[in-house]
Amino acid sequence: TELVGTVVAVQANFYQVELEIQRVLPSERILLCTRRSLLKKMGQQVMVGDRVVVEEPDWLGKRGAIAQVLPRITELSRPPVANANQILLVFAIAEPELEATALSRFLVKAESTGLEVCLCLNKCDLVSSEELLEWRDRLLNWGYYPLFISVNTGLEYTVDSDHKIIQKSLFDAENTFKEKTLLHQLKDKTTVISGPSGVGKSSLINQLIPSLNIRVATVSGKLGRGRHTTRHVELFHLPTGGLLADTPGFNQPELDCEPQELVDYFPEAKQRFQQGKCQFSDCSHRDEPNCVVRGDWERYPIYLDFLETAIAYQEAIQQQP
Ligand code: GDP
Ligand code: ZN
Repeated sequence: TELVGTVVAVQANFYQVELEIQRVLPSERILLCTRRSLLKKMGQQVMVGDRVVVEEPDWLGKRGAIAQVLPRITELSRPPVANANQILLVFAIAEPELEATALSRFLVKAESTGLEVCLCLNKCDLVSSEELLEWRDRLLNWGYYPLFISVNTGLEYTVDSDHKIIQKSLFDAENTFKEKTLLHQLKDKTTVISGPSGVGKSSLINQLIPSLNIRVATVSGKLGRGRHTTRHVELFHLPTGGLLADTPGFNQPELDCEPQELVDYFPEAKQRFQQGKCQFSDCSHRDEPNCVVRGDWERYPIYLDFLETAIAYQEAIQQQP
């Protein structure tokens, strides 16, 4: 019998695979698998998130063998996750102060993965409604639809058509069915959280995956730590649907993309191509004539700044022997 499943955890040379079959108990779908020696010989790596073909399931012993890794749709290296379809970029709206350039560095890095990017601002309990609405307008102009949350108070802040802020419970399953809430955004997707340190990523992951608190507490004895001392990543089902990696991704983004690709990672700049093309196909959008990107949009100076960095990075790499 051949079965298809998803790798949800990797432990040394063992892989936890959740099979795509219906069973009464979800735990009956999980097999502890080894990797066929042929895969090892081919150097085929198996990552969390991989869809795999499992052979010779031993249902009683809950074991099997991975015979094949199906083609990956996406691949992240930090943390190593295959087939994720979304990055939830978490920043704090205050403490540390939200800053357009630092945020843009992460946004560019996230966009360069090719995954969908969802921006989430935490610690909204620390700012006024005016500040929140100001950031919202700014970020909408950048081409993002930001989510506003406070993990500490368990609240999510949405804005109605009259520009009024509505507070809802962040972890309320009811929110899953409504548009544009965090739970709704995570539903039916495989998500990796990213962002700088201190913004509340671990707090959020612990709240979203209740079983994690128990595990962390029992395994390491002290909450919140321990889990991060091991460099492994695991996928968890969210109670309201979707899979979430329990380890946050890149937290010090390097502007290592191709300079000519950079413009694609600014949604509001990319949008300008809808009105026409630049005269030169290799336009860097700095000072070329008839450029559709150059203009008075807010992040244009950030684009120029990042472009210099990306060019310098590229030159440094080329000079290496
Ligand atoms: P990480 O480094 O991104 O994983 O951030 P942590 O989850 O470790 O949180 C960093 C600090 O921010 C901790 O002291 C948290 O208690 C605090 N924090 C997290 N979420 C909130 C929030 O919604 N509001 C406030 N005021 N503080 C928060
Ligand atoms: Zn141009």
